[in-house]
Amino acid sequence: MQMLNSINHIIIAPHFNLSEFACPCCRQVMLHPKLLGKLMELRNILERPVYITSGYRCPGYNREVGGVPNSYHCIGLAADIKARDINLIELLEICENIGFGGIGFYEKKDFLHLDVRPTKRSRWRE
Ligand SMILES: [Zn+2]
Ligand SMILES: [Zn+2]
Repeated sequence: MQMLNSINHIIIAPHFNLSEFACPCCRQVMLHPKLLGKLMELRNILERPVYITSGYRCPGYNREVGGVPNSYHCIGLAADIKARDINLIELLEICENIGFGGIGFYEKKDFLHLDVRPTKRSRWRE
């Protein structure tokens, strides 16, 4: 159906569209305002696009991509991101200052996992 092409195409913040956070397999989406707020902060500091490479994941898609069970992606608290013309270490430092609860540093795949988990902070590297 043609109309489905525009599902979730809603501007939710100056530089973010809800569709960027939707699950690629089913277009379902959950997004916590705290996560969006921190990503907006990151976007403002960087003054360049923040690319969401993975936002919300339905449980099936999460399994498919090898996500951990009960991933924060499945409850709208996590996003994987990339940005151009900045190295991952610099990007990590900025994200540390913004204060994400969870930060995963994926050196080979060149992205950061960011989340706003309510429990104590966690850092990991792959
Ligand atoms: Zn899905
Ligand atoms: Zn992630």
